[in-house]
Amino acid sequence: MKWLDRQSFLGINSDQALRDAVIGLAGLGGGGSHVVQQLAHVGVGNFVVLDDDSIDDTNLNRLIGGRHGDLPKESRPGTDKVEIARRVIVDINPAAKVYARSALWQVEADRLKGCDLIVGGLDSVRAKSELEGFSRRFLIPYLDMGMDVHALDDGYLIAGQVALSMPGCPCLRCMGIVRQEALDEEGRNYGAAGGKPQVVWPNGVLASTAVGLAVQILSPWLPNPISSTYLEYDGNSHTIKESARFARIKNLPCPHYPSNETGDPSFDVRKVLDTPAPVQNVATAAIPAPSWWRRLFGWLAI
Ligand SMILES: [Zn+2]
Repeated sequence: MKWLDRQSFLGINSDQALRDAVIGLAGLGGGGSHVVQQLAHVGVGNFVVLDDDSIDDTNLNRLIGGRHGDLPKESRPGTDKVEIARRVIVDINPAAKVYARSALWQVEADRLKGCDLIVGGLDSVRAKSELEGFSRRFLIPYLDMGMDVHALDDGYLIAGQVALSMPGCPCLRCMGIVRQEALDEEGRNYGAAGGKPQVVWPNGVLASTAVGLAVQILSPWLPNPISSTYLEYDGNSHTIKESARFARIKNLPCPHYPSNETGDPSFDVRKVLDTPAPVQNVATAAIPAPSWWRRLFGWLAI
């Protein structure tokens, strides 16, 4: 028996497809840390992991792979979240190639251009919108996750969502996840102290759902994979279902990202492939060449 035999139902070439896949993750917190762990288990071979944060005591209730020994001490800061992600991945699959950098995703945007799929575990609505805009520009499927806890008169509601934003399909604005009012409110509260409430199990549900969507994109598992979706999670009733808003708009064209606004005239895919991995903070590994259609797109965009 081999490592991936129990998932052979994913298709004849699924092992190879997953091994060749390059997945970009921006945000390695409660959701992203679950996703990298699961993608490593299913055999994804290449990762670009980006987050400028390091672990602190308040992360230990939910950060997959985080250890007590990673917490900040008087003599040093906490371990970078991307280093924790890299450690989780290579502990499961030593052959995986991990490009990990403790930085905002914008610093390594060229790396993300070579990815087959981008997963966002970002907190703010503005950050989600910017990463989705980038993904649309380079025709890369984008998976978004988010959770929140809302105060009710008689308690709290755990809520969250997973959205698959595919070029040509409804975007986060169409879905109502990115709304101008939310952007304005975030702007007014910019710099406000304190983090949002977060716990491990809703992040696990949302991340597992996102990984299921990722695998159906990457493997020949489903003959007609879902091309776009917005799934809402109710953590009090423990249910996840398609958003009613999405059901109404899923067949409508997206007016926010016209198909003629793609590409980057200054992007040279050869620079990405020839640039060595950074030496600080991180594990070093060359990312393999992007799939043939992405290379073609890169050449056409020069
Ligand atoms: Zn749209």
